[in-house]
Amino acid sequence: MATFKAPKGTYDLIPPVSVKYLAVREAISAPLRNSGYGYIETPGFEDVGLFARGVGESTDIVSKEMYAFETKGGDQLALRPEGTASVLRAALEASLHKQGNLPVKLWYSGSYYRYERPQKGRYRHFSQVGAEAIGAEDPALDAELIILADQAYRSLGLRDFRILLNSLGDKECRPVYREALQGFLRGLDLDEETVRRAEINPLRVLDDKRPDVQKQLVGAPVLRDYLCDACKAYHEEVRALITAAGVAFEDDEKLVRGLDYYTRTTFEFVHDGLGSQSAVGGGGRYDGLSEMIGGPALPSVGWALGVDRTVLALEAEGVELDIPASTSVFAVALGEEARRVLFGKVTELRKAGVAADFSFGGKGLKGAMKDANRSGARFAVVAGERDLAEGLVQLKDMESGEQSAVALAELIDTVKARLA
Ligand code: AMP
Repeated sequence: MATFKAPKGTYDLIPPVSVKYLAVREAISAPLRNSGYGYIETPGFEDVGLFARGVGESTDIVSKEMYAFETKGGDQLALRPEGTASVLRAALEASLHKQGNLPVKLWYSGSYYRYERPQKGRYRHFSQVGAEAIGAEDPALDAELIILADQAYRSLGLRDFRILLNSLGDKECRPVYREALQGFLRGLDLDEETVRRAEINPLRVLDDKRPDVQKQLVGAPVLRDYLCDACKAYHEEVRALITAAGVAFEDDEKLVRGLDYYTRTTFEFVHDGLGSQSAVGGGGRYDGLSEMIGGPALPSVGWALGVDRTVLALEAEGVELDIPASTSVFAVALGEEARRVLFGKVTELRKAGVAADFSFGGKGLKGAMKDANRSGARFAVVAGERDLAEGLVQLKDMESGEQSAVALAELIDTVKARLA
Protein backbone atom coordinates (compact mmCIF):
# COMPACT_ATOMS: atom_id res chain seq x y z
CA MET A 1 0.00 0.00 0.00
CA ALA A 2 1.20 3.46 -0.83
CA THR A 3 2.43 5.49 2.09
CA PHE A 4 1.19 8.86 0.84
CA LYS A 5 -2.18 9.93 -0.43
CA ALA A 6 -3.35 13.08 -2.19
CA PRO A 7 -4.03 15.73 0.49
CA LYS A 8 -7.58 16.17 1.77
CA GLY A 9 -9.78 18.03 -0.66
CA THR A 10 -7.60 17.23 -3.67
CA TYR A 11 -7.66 14.51 -6.30
CA ASP A 12 -5.45 13.37 -9.13
CA LEU A 13 -6.37 13.56 -12.76
CA ILE A 14 -5.44 10.21 -14.23
CA PRO A 15 -6.04 8.50 -17.55
CA PRO A 16 -8.48 7.78 -19.04
CA VAL A 17 -10.55 10.46 -17.25
CA SER A 18 -7.85 13.14 -17.37
CA VAL A 19 -8.36 13.53 -21.12
CA LYS A 20 -11.80 15.00 -20.37
CA TYR A 21 -10.17 17.80 -18.40
CA LEU A 22 -7.91 18.64 -21.31
CA ALA A 23 -10.92 18.63 -23.63
CA VAL A 24 -12.87 20.93 -21.32
CA ARG A 25 -9.99 23.39 -21.03
CA GLU A 26 -9.63 23.30 -24.79
CA ALA A 27 -13.36 23.83 -25.37
CA ILE A 28 -13.59 26.74 -22.95
CA SER A 29 -10.54 28.49 -24.30
CA ALA A 30 -11.30 27.96 -28.00
CA PRO A 31 -13.97 30.71 -28.25
CA LEU A 32 -11.64 33.09 -26.39
CA ARG A 33 -8.66 32.39 -28.64
CA ASN A 34 -11.02 32.98 -31.51
CA SER A 35 -12.10 36.39 -30.17
CA GLY A 36 -8.89 38.31 -29.61
CA TYR A 37 -7.98 37.07 -26.14
CA GLY A 38 -4.26 36.50 -25.57
CA TYR A 39 -2.90 33.81 -23.26
CA ILE A 40 -1.50 34.87 -19.89
CA GLU A 41 0.12 32.81 -17.17
CA THR A 42 0.90 34.18 -13.73
CA PRO A 43 2.60 32.58 -10.69
CA GLY A 44 0.72 30.16 -8.46
CA PHE A 45 1.36 32.45 -5.50
CA GLU A 46 1.32 36.20 -4.94
CA ASP A 47 1.85 38.70 -2.17
CA VAL A 48 -0.93 38.03 0.29
CA GLY A 49 -1.81 41.72 0.21
CA LEU A 50 -2.90 41.51 -3.42
CA PHE A 51 -5.78 39.22 -2.49
CA ALA A 52 -6.52 40.93 0.82
CA ARG A 53 -6.96 44.23 -0.99
CA GLY A 54 -8.28 42.93 -4.27
CA VAL A 55 -10.66 40.15 -3.33
CA GLY A 56 -11.51 41.79 0.02
CA GLU A 57 -10.60 41.21 3.68
CA SER A 58 -14.18 40.44 4.64
CA THR A 59 -14.78 37.73 2.06
CA ASP A 60 -14.70 34.06 3.04
CA ILE A 61 -12.08 33.52 0.36
CA VAL A 62 -9.58 35.80 2.09
CA SER A 63 -10.59 35.55 5.74
CA LYS A 64 -11.05 31.78 5.94
CA GLU A 65 -9.93 29.98 2.82
CA MET A 66 -6.56 31.35 1.81
CA TYR A 67 -3.37 29.30 1.97
CA ALA A 68 -1.21 32.10 3.32
CA PHE A 69 2.34 31.53 4.49
CA GLU A 70 5.62 33.21 5.29
CA THR A 71 8.64 32.21 3.23
CA LYS A 72 12.08 31.54 4.67
CA GLY A 73 12.98 35.00 3.40
CA GLY A 74 10.12 36.57 5.36
CA ASP A 75 7.77 37.32 2.43
CA GLN A 76 4.06 37.02 3.12
CA LEU A 77 2.61 35.02 0.26
CA ALA A 78 -0.59 33.19 -0.54
CA LEU A 79 -1.46 30.46 -3.02
CA ARG A 80 -3.81 32.11 -5.49
CA PRO A 81 -7.48 31.57 -4.56
CA GLU A 82 -8.72 33.09 -7.83
CA GLY A 83 -7.35 34.54 -11.06
CA THR A 84 -8.59 38.06 -11.61
CA ALA A 85 -6.43 39.93 -9.10
CA SER A 86 -3.27 38.21 -10.38
CA VAL A 87 -4.05 38.88 -14.04
CA LEU A 88 -4.76 42.53 -13.37
CA ARG A 89 -1.59 42.81 -11.29
CA ALA A 90 0.43 41.30 -14.13
CA ALA A 91 -1.18 43.55 -16.75
CA LEU A 92 -0.42 46.63 -14.65
CA GLU A 93 3.13 45.49 -13.95
CA ALA A 94 3.79 44.99 -17.69
CA SER A 95 2.00 48.27 -18.52
CA LEU A 96 -0.21 46.41 -20.97
CA HIS A 97 -2.81 49.14 -20.43
CA LYS A 98 -0.43 51.86 -21.66
CA GLN A 99 0.00 50.56 -25.17
CA GLY A 100 -3.02 52.28 -26.62
CA ASN A 101 -4.90 49.08 -27.24
CA LEU A 102 -7.63 48.98 -24.63
CA PRO A 103 -9.32 46.78 -23.82
CA VAL A 104 -6.52 44.34 -23.10
CA LYS A 105 -8.15 40.94 -23.52
CA LEU A 106 -6.52 37.99 -21.77
CA TRP A 107 -7.35 34.38 -21.01
CA TYR A 108 -5.79 31.95 -18.58
CA SER A 109 -6.01 28.38 -17.37
CA GLY A 110 -4.66 27.08 -14.11
CA SER A 111 -4.92 25.73 -10.58
CA TYR A 112 -6.47 27.64 -7.69
CA TYR A 113 -6.43 26.91 -3.99
CA ARG A 114 -9.01 27.46 -1.29
CA TYR A 115 -9.08 25.91 2.16
CA GLU A 116 -12.74 24.94 1.95
CA ARG A 117 -14.75 22.12 3.49
CA PRO A 118 -14.35 19.50 0.78
CA GLN A 119 -17.41 17.90 -0.80
CA LYS A 120 -18.47 16.85 -4.26
CA GLY A 121 -17.72 19.76 -6.59
CA ARG A 122 -15.83 21.68 -3.94
CA TYR A 123 -12.14 21.03 -3.58
CA ARG A 124 -9.10 22.65 -2.04
CA HIS A 125 -7.27 22.51 -5.32
CA PHE A 126 -9.36 23.12 -8.41
CA SER A 127 -8.94 24.31 -11.92
CA GLN A 128 -10.39 27.25 -13.81
CA VAL A 129 -10.24 28.73 -17.26
CA GLY A 130 -10.81 32.46 -17.13
CA ALA A 131 -11.00 35.56 -19.27
CA GLU A 132 -10.49 39.23 -18.48
CA ALA A 133 -11.13 42.30 -20.66
CA ILE A 134 -9.27 45.15 -19.04
CA GLY A 135 -9.66 48.88 -19.49
CA ALA A 136 -12.96 49.53 -21.26
CA GLU A 137 -16.43 50.36 -20.07
CA ASP A 138 -18.53 48.96 -22.86
CA PRO A 139 -21.65 46.84 -22.46
CA ALA A 140 -20.69 44.95 -25.62
CA LEU A 141 -17.67 43.62 -23.76
CA ASP A 142 -19.80 42.28 -20.91
CA ALA A 143 -22.11 40.75 -23.50
CA GLU A 144 -19.19 39.26 -25.46
CA LEU A 145 -17.89 37.40 -22.43
CA ILE A 146 -21.28 36.00 -21.48
CA ILE A 147 -21.90 34.89 -25.06
CA LEU A 148 -18.45 33.24 -25.29
CA ALA A 149 -19.01 31.28 -22.08
CA ASP A 150 -22.40 30.15 -23.36
CA GLN A 151 -20.77 29.07 -26.61
CA ALA A 152 -18.07 27.17 -24.70
CA TYR A 153 -20.58 25.18 -22.65
CA ARG A 154 -22.74 24.48 -25.69
CA SER A 155 -19.77 23.30 -27.74
CA LEU A 156 -19.19 20.71 -25.03
CA GLY A 157 -22.77 19.55 -25.40
CA LEU A 158 -24.08 20.97 -22.12
CA ARG A 159 -27.74 22.00 -22.11
CA ASP A 160 -29.02 22.08 -18.53
CA PHE A 161 -27.25 25.23 -17.42
CA ARG A 162 -28.75 28.62 -16.77
CA ILE A 163 -27.27 32.09 -16.82
CA LEU A 164 -28.18 34.31 -13.89
CA LEU A 165 -27.67 38.02 -14.43
CA ASN A 166 -27.72 41.04 -12.16
CA SER A 167 -26.29 44.53 -11.82
CA LEU A 168 -24.59 45.54 -8.60
CA GLY A 169 -24.57 49.26 -9.37
CA ASP A 170 -21.53 51.49 -9.23
CA LYS A 171 -19.82 53.82 -6.78
CA GLU A 172 -22.67 56.33 -7.15
CA CYS A 173 -25.69 54.18 -6.44
CA ARG A 174 -24.35 51.17 -4.60
CA PRO A 175 -23.51 53.08 -1.37
CA VAL A 176 -27.05 54.48 -1.20
CA TYR A 177 -28.47 51.00 -1.57
CA ARG A 178 -25.97 49.60 0.89
CA GLU A 179 -27.17 52.00 3.55
CA ALA A 180 -30.83 51.24 2.87
CA LEU A 181 -30.11 47.51 3.10
CA GLN A 182 -28.14 47.95 6.30
CA GLY A 183 -31.05 49.84 7.82
CA PHE A 184 -33.34 46.95 6.94
CA LEU A 185 -30.92 44.29 8.22
CA ARG A 186 -30.50 46.05 11.58
CA GLY A 187 -34.18 45.44 12.23
CA LEU A 188 -33.85 41.66 11.83
CA ASP A 189 -33.11 38.92 14.32
CA LEU A 190 -29.75 37.64 13.08
CA ASP A 191 -26.89 35.74 14.72
CA GLU A 192 -23.75 37.59 15.73
CA GLU A 193 -21.66 36.65 12.71
CA THR A 194 -24.38 37.69 10.29
CA VAL A 195 -24.83 40.99 12.13
CA ARG A 196 -21.10 41.57 11.68
CA ARG A 197 -21.31 40.64 8.01
CA ALA A 198 -24.23 43.05 7.61
CA GLU A 199 -21.97 45.86 8.78
CA ILE A 200 -18.98 44.96 6.60
CA ASN A 201 -20.63 43.59 3.45
CA PRO A 202 -24.44 43.72 3.73
CA LEU A 203 -25.02 42.56 0.14
CA ARG A 204 -23.56 39.19 1.00
CA VAL A 205 -26.24 38.61 3.62
CA LEU A 206 -28.67 38.37 0.71
CA ASP A 207 -26.66 35.36 -0.42
CA ASP A 208 -27.25 33.52 2.89
CA LYS A 209 -28.62 30.10 2.05
CA ARG A 210 -30.27 29.40 5.44
CA PRO A 211 -34.09 29.28 5.21
CA ASP A 212 -34.64 31.21 8.47
CA VAL A 213 -32.47 34.04 7.15
CA GLN A 214 -34.11 33.95 3.72
CA LYS A 215 -37.54 34.16 5.39
CA GLN A 216 -36.54 37.35 7.16
CA LEU A 217 -35.16 38.82 3.96
CA VAL A 218 -38.57 38.97 2.32
CA GLY A 219 -39.29 42.63 1.69
CA ALA A 220 -35.63 43.69 1.81
CA PRO A 221 -34.83 46.66 -0.42
CA VAL A 222 -33.72 45.46 -3.86
CA LEU A 223 -30.77 46.96 -5.68
CA ARG A 224 -32.71 47.30 -8.90
CA ASP A 225 -34.80 50.05 -7.33
CA TYR A 226 -31.65 51.98 -6.42
CA LEU A 227 -29.64 51.73 -9.66
CA CYS A 228 -28.66 55.15 -11.02
CA ASP A 229 -29.66 56.04 -14.57
CA ALA A 230 -26.20 55.29 -15.96
CA CYS A 231 -26.15 51.81 -14.41
CA LYS A 232 -29.69 51.11 -15.54
CA ALA A 233 -28.93 52.12 -19.14
CA TYR A 234 -25.71 50.07 -19.10
CA HIS A 235 -27.50 47.01 -17.80
CA GLU A 236 -30.32 47.32 -20.31
CA GLU A 237 -27.76 47.45 -23.11
CA VAL A 238 -26.00 44.31 -21.84
CA ARG A 239 -29.34 42.52 -21.65
CA ALA A 240 -30.32 43.64 -25.14
CA LEU A 241 -27.04 42.49 -26.69
CA ILE A 242 -27.19 39.06 -25.06
CA THR A 243 -30.81 38.65 -26.07
CA ALA A 244 -30.00 39.63 -29.66
CA ALA A 245 -27.34 36.91 -29.68
CA GLY A 246 -30.01 34.37 -28.80
CA VAL A 247 -28.53 33.62 -25.38
CA ALA A 248 -31.17 33.04 -22.72
CA PHE A 249 -30.64 34.36 -19.19
CA GLU A 250 -32.58 34.96 -16.01
CA ASP A 251 -32.59 38.19 -14.07
CA ASP A 252 -31.57 37.39 -10.52
CA GLU A 253 -31.56 40.39 -8.23
CA LYS A 254 -30.20 38.29 -5.36
CA LEU A 255 -27.01 37.42 -7.21
CA VAL A 256 -24.14 39.18 -5.41
CA ARG A 257 -21.22 36.68 -5.51
CA GLY A 258 -18.56 36.18 -2.91
CA LEU A 259 -15.91 38.64 -4.04
CA ASP A 260 -15.88 42.31 -3.12
CA TYR A 261 -14.61 43.75 -6.36
CA TYR A 262 -17.68 43.40 -8.55
CA THR A 263 -19.59 46.42 -9.87
CA ARG A 264 -22.47 46.64 -12.34
CA THR A 265 -22.79 43.45 -14.41
CA THR A 266 -22.53 40.20 -12.43
CA PHE A 267 -23.45 36.78 -13.66
CA GLU A 268 -23.25 33.18 -12.74
CA PHE A 269 -23.62 29.98 -14.72
CA VAL A 270 -25.47 27.34 -12.72
CA HIS A 271 -26.05 23.73 -13.64
CA ASP A 272 -29.15 22.01 -12.38
CA GLY A 273 -27.62 18.55 -12.18
CA LEU A 274 -24.99 19.39 -9.58
CA GLY A 275 -26.81 19.65 -6.26
CA SER A 276 -25.55 22.24 -3.81
CA GLN A 277 -22.35 23.16 -5.68
CA SER A 278 -24.32 24.26 -8.71
CA ALA A 279 -22.21 27.21 -9.89
CA VAL A 280 -20.09 26.08 -12.81
CA GLY A 281 -18.77 29.55 -13.52
CA GLY A 282 -19.20 33.18 -12.76
CA GLY A 283 -17.92 36.64 -13.28
CA GLY A 284 -18.72 40.25 -13.76
CA ARG A 285 -17.50 43.77 -14.07
CA TYR A 286 -14.88 45.06 -11.64
CA ASP A 287 -14.44 48.73 -12.40
CA GLY A 288 -12.80 49.56 -9.07
CA LEU A 289 -10.32 46.70 -8.71
CA SER A 290 -7.38 48.34 -10.46
CA GLU A 291 -7.48 51.32 -8.12
CA MET A 292 -7.90 49.02 -5.12
CA ILE A 293 -4.55 47.40 -5.95
CA GLY A 294 -2.77 50.67 -6.67
CA GLY A 295 -3.36 51.07 -10.41
CA PRO A 296 -5.16 53.71 -12.45
CA ALA A 297 -8.90 53.59 -13.12
CA LEU A 298 -9.37 50.62 -15.48
CA PRO A 299 -12.95 49.48 -15.83
CA SER A 300 -12.85 45.77 -16.62
CA VAL A 301 -14.94 42.65 -16.88
CA GLY A 302 -14.18 38.94 -16.70
CA TRP A 303 -15.23 35.44 -15.78
CA ALA A 304 -13.84 32.18 -14.53
CA LEU A 305 -15.34 28.82 -15.35
CA GLY A 306 -14.61 25.85 -13.11
CA VAL A 307 -13.13 22.91 -15.00
CA ASP A 308 -13.87 20.35 -12.26
CA ARG A 309 -17.53 21.27 -12.06
CA THR A 310 -17.87 21.44 -15.83
CA VAL A 311 -16.67 17.82 -15.97
CA LEU A 312 -19.22 16.92 -13.26
CA ALA A 313 -21.91 18.73 -15.27
CA LEU A 314 -21.02 16.67 -18.35
CA GLU A 315 -21.35 13.50 -16.28
CA ALA A 316 -24.66 14.69 -14.82
CA GLU A 317 -26.06 15.21 -18.31
CA GLY A 318 -24.57 11.97 -19.57
CA VAL A 319 -22.61 13.79 -22.25
CA GLU A 320 -19.85 11.64 -23.73
CA LEU A 321 -17.21 13.85 -25.27
CA ASP A 322 -16.13 12.80 -28.71
CA ILE A 323 -12.48 12.25 -27.92
CA PRO A 324 -10.57 10.37 -30.64
CA ALA A 325 -8.31 7.53 -29.50
CA SER A 326 -4.90 8.97 -28.86
CA THR A 327 -3.07 6.11 -30.58
CA SER A 328 -3.68 5.18 -34.23
CA VAL A 329 -1.10 2.46 -34.68
CA PHE A 330 0.27 0.00 -32.13
CA ALA A 331 3.38 -1.99 -33.01
CA VAL A 332 3.85 -5.53 -31.71
CA ALA A 333 7.33 -6.93 -32.27
CA LEU A 334 8.21 -10.57 -31.69
CA GLY A 335 11.90 -11.14 -31.18
CA GLU A 336 14.95 -8.91 -30.88
CA GLU A 337 15.45 -8.08 -34.54
CA ALA A 338 11.73 -7.30 -35.00
CA ARG A 339 11.88 -5.00 -31.97
CA ARG A 340 14.68 -2.99 -33.49
CA VAL A 341 12.99 -2.70 -36.89
CA LEU A 342 9.48 -1.90 -35.61
CA PHE A 343 10.77 0.56 -33.04
CA GLY A 344 12.34 2.42 -35.96
CA LYS A 345 9.05 2.30 -37.86
CA VAL A 346 7.17 3.71 -34.85
CA THR A 347 9.57 6.62 -34.74
CA GLU A 348 9.05 7.16 -38.48
CA LEU A 349 5.26 7.04 -38.10
CA ARG A 350 5.39 9.58 -35.31
CA LYS A 351 7.54 11.89 -37.41
CA ALA A 352 5.00 11.52 -40.20
CA GLY A 353 2.30 12.75 -37.80
CA VAL A 354 0.70 9.38 -37.08
CA ALA A 355 0.07 8.69 -33.38
CA ALA A 356 1.90 5.45 -32.73
CA ASP A 357 2.86 3.35 -29.74
CA PHE A 358 4.98 0.27 -29.18
CA SER A 359 4.74 -2.89 -27.16
CA PHE A 360 7.35 -2.33 -24.48
CA GLY A 361 8.61 -4.73 -21.90
CA GLY A 362 9.30 -7.81 -24.05
CA LYS A 363 5.78 -9.27 -23.88
CA GLY A 364 4.61 -12.30 -25.81
CA LEU A 365 2.08 -12.02 -28.64
CA LYS A 366 -0.98 -12.44 -26.42
CA GLY A 367 -0.01 -9.81 -23.87
CA ALA A 368 1.16 -7.40 -26.56
CA MET A 369 -2.11 -7.72 -28.49
CA LYS A 370 -3.99 -6.96 -25.28
CA ASP A 371 -1.98 -3.74 -25.03
CA ALA A 372 -2.80 -2.96 -28.65
CA ASN A 373 -6.48 -3.39 -27.86
CA ARG A 374 -6.33 -1.27 -24.75
CA SER A 375 -4.57 1.53 -26.63
CA GLY A 376 -7.65 2.06 -28.82
CA ALA A 377 -5.41 1.97 -31.90
CA ARG A 378 -7.09 1.47 -35.26
CA PHE A 379 -4.24 -0.71 -36.54
CA ALA A 380 -1.79 -3.12 -35.03
CA VAL A 381 1.45 -3.78 -36.85
CA VAL A 382 2.74 -7.25 -35.99
CA ALA A 383 6.07 -8.64 -37.10
CA GLY A 384 8.25 -11.62 -36.21
CA GLU A 385 11.55 -12.82 -37.60
CA ARG A 386 9.93 -14.81 -40.42
CA ASP A 387 7.87 -11.84 -41.73
CA LEU A 388 10.87 -9.57 -41.62
CA ALA A 389 13.03 -12.05 -43.47
CA GLU A 390 10.58 -11.59 -46.33
CA GLY A 391 10.47 -7.81 -45.89
CA LEU A 392 6.89 -7.93 -44.61
CA VAL A 393 4.82 -6.94 -41.59
CA GLN A 394 1.24 -7.92 -40.72
CA LEU A 395 -1.18 -5.01 -40.59
CA LYS A 396 -4.26 -5.80 -38.55
CA ASP A 397 -7.37 -3.65 -38.67
CA MET A 398 -8.49 -3.71 -35.03
CA GLU A 399 -12.06 -2.81 -35.95
CA SER A 400 -12.77 -5.48 -38.58
CA GLY A 401 -10.16 -7.97 -37.38
CA GLU A 402 -8.85 -8.29 -40.96
CA GLN A 403 -5.16 -8.84 -41.35
CA SER A 404 -2.94 -8.48 -44.41
CA ALA A 405 0.75 -8.55 -45.15
CA VAL A 406 2.30 -5.23 -46.13
CA ALA A 407 5.79 -4.59 -47.44
CA LEU A 408 7.91 -3.03 -44.71
CA ALA A 409 9.05 -0.31 -47.09
CA GLU A 410 5.45 0.69 -47.78
CA LEU A 411 4.20 0.55 -44.20
CA ILE A 412 4.17 4.31 -43.54
CA ASP A 413 2.37 5.18 -46.78
CA THR A 414 -0.11 2.32 -46.44
CA VAL A 415 -1.00 3.26 -42.87
CA LYS A 416 -1.35 6.93 -43.76
CA ALA A 417 -3.60 6.11 -46.72
CA ARG A 418 -5.80 3.76 -44.71
CA LEU A 419 -6.15 6.24 -41.83
CA ALA A 420 -7.13 9.11 -44.14
P1 AMP B 1 -15.54 31.99 -8.01
O1 AMP B 1 -14.18 32.57 -8.20
O2 AMP B 1 -15.80 31.60 -6.58
O3 AMP B 1 -16.62 32.79 -8.62
O4 AMP B 1 -15.51 30.61 -8.79
C1 AMP B 1 -15.67 30.51 -10.18
C2 AMP B 1 -15.88 29.04 -10.51
O5 AMP B 1 -14.77 28.27 -10.09
C3 AMP B 1 -17.05 28.43 -9.78
O6 AMP B 1 -18.24 28.64 -10.49
C4 AMP B 1 -16.68 26.98 -9.74
O7 AMP B 1 -16.99 26.33 -10.95
C5 AMP B 1 -15.19 27.03 -9.59
N1 AMP B 1 -14.80 26.86 -8.18
C6 AMP B 1 -14.68 27.81 -7.23
N2 AMP B 1 -14.29 27.28 -6.07
C7 AMP B 1 -14.18 25.95 -6.27
C8 AMP B 1 -13.81 24.83 -5.45
N3 AMP B 1 -13.46 24.99 -4.18
N4 AMP B 1 -13.80 23.61 -6.00
C9 AMP B 1 -14.13 23.43 -7.30
N5 AMP B 1 -14.48 24.43 -8.12
C10 AMP B 1 -14.50 25.68 -7.62
